[in-house]
Amino acid sequence: MKHQEGGCLCGECRYLVTAPPLRVTTCHCRFCQRSTGSAYMVEPIFTHNSFNLTAGQPKIWEHLSAGSGKHVWLHFCPDCGGRLYLGFERFDQVIGVFTGSFDDPDWFEIAPENSKQIFLSTARHGTIIPPHIETYAEHVTDRAGNPQPVTVFDAARRI
Ligand SMILES: [Zn+2]
Ligand SMILES: [Zn+2]
Repeated sequence: MKHQEGGCLCGECRYLVTAPPLRVTTCHCRFCQRSTGSAYMVEPIFTHNSFNLTAGQPKIWEHLSAGSGKHVWLHFCPDCGGRLYLGFERFDQVIGVFTGSFDDPDWFEIAPENSKQIFLSTARHGTIIPPHIETYAEHVTDRAGNPQPVTVFDAARRI
């Protein structure tokens, strides 16, 4: 595939990815709401190998997740504050990119085959969940790694 680039608001921090996302998670948890400043985060997941910083030095804010007891590292531009990506102690092989930071946020597909919606328990009132996609009240697995119940709606669902 053609390399895809992205960056912060001011352009000081830039990155490129060299492979499609492994999967795309749409997350409605309070951390994602606060870190995006919006209703939810659309988060394509990439291996470290396929993600390269090409300019700038993001500042890192460390968050201890109350749910997992593990750290999440928020990477953002020290100048403009634009969010770039998340690193995870719990999933240390991958990172999650803030979709809106791509130069072309439409370059990858979000389809039932490659995506999930998680933390519907804290989704903002009025959020529309698409049909035919796996949804979870919280994480896909619990803290011990046990699979959690999955719900697939037949029609769009208003939370
Ligand atoms: Zn910036
Ligand atoms: Zn989240």
